[in-house]
Amino acid sequence: MWKGLISFGLVLAVLAEIHHISTDATVRPLETQFDPTLQNAIATAQSLLQTAVQEAQQQLQQAGIPVPSVTVSQSQDGTQIIEVRIDRRWGIHRLPAVPPQAEQSAGPVKVQAGDRGVSAATLQRAVTTIQQVSLPVLSSNLNARLGTATVVLFSTPSAYANALRQAGLPALEISQIVRKTGGLTVGTEVWVPLYALQGHAELANVVTHELTHVWLNQQGLGDKLPTWINEGIAWYSGMTAEAQVSRVEAEALAQAYDGQLRAAAANGQLLPLSASESDILKANYNVEWEDYRAVQALVQAHGNAALRSFLSASRNEAVSTAFAQAFGISESTFEQQFLQSLERGF
Ligand SMILES: [Zn+2]
Repeated sequence: MWKGLISFGLVLAVLAEIHHISTDATVRPLETQFDPTLQNAIATAQSLLQTAVQEAQQQLQQAGIPVPSVTVSQSQDGTQIIEVRIDRRWGIHRLPAVPPQAEQSAGPVKVQAGDRGVSAATLQRAVTTIQQVSLPVLSSNLNARLGTATVVLFSTPSAYANALRQAGLPALEISQIVRKTGGLTVGTEVWVPLYALQGHAELANVVTHELTHVWLNQQGLGDKLPTWINEGIAWYSGMTAEAQVSRVEAEALAQAYDGQLRAAAANGQLLPLSASESDILKANYNVEWEDYRAVQALVQAHGNAALRSFLSASRNEAVSTAFAQAFGISESTFEQQFLQSLERGF
């Protein structure tokens, strides 16, 4: 009996370790950027391993054995999520003010150093990025004029973790957020962990993405839009910004995430666009990338103007009405057709 349990435990530990390695490989998609075949293989292996780990966990649970700390929530984060929705997950609707070590303005955006490790040059680079990339992209993609917002930059995991503690996040979740996420927005406040970003292009992506959420919040659309549209639009702005800074990096990122999406489609694991938050958190691919591809498909078919009129109409009407008017198709029919297009291969 015990021998069986021990060997089962060993199998699980090995699986967890392999799984950990495989998920780490996808946390840094740029390193495998020039080999989409490898990226596909990693995504497929990752999803097979996740299934194996889940099955092992279920068997342990059925046998009444406490499940070790290889939780599904670790594997899901293997696909780097760009932000964590702390307002929806933990009901935190206001971020505490972080005493700024330094501050500069980028148009309507106050850019602050959240700790002393953020150098004057780094602060200046963020300001320039917002002025030269984020605000113009918001304007050209969405005809958006941003209202007052604050972006706080953190240079180290410990400074970011400290701020998250003060925001009231559960201690158990903080280390994962610190390791795995690239920025968060609550209302008009944006926090960006700089240490998690790999360069100027990624900074442009994350800051523009988060400022898109700020703008949608300012339009009263943040909670009104379905999550897939909200995230898809934020990704659309973010990717436009990243491509402006480095087309090569944007294409590499697209290849990596498309690889995950293809593997999920091949394995029958695609979620519908309207999947619940808990399903999204269990997915083994970047669901926000699927959201992005959906919004991009709408823009390719109907143009930026249709997206803008959809957003403008959504402020005063039901989203479903605005959607059908702007894109000539009901949201649910579009969802079905889009999912089928992914399943056919793209
Ligand atoms: Zn987002």
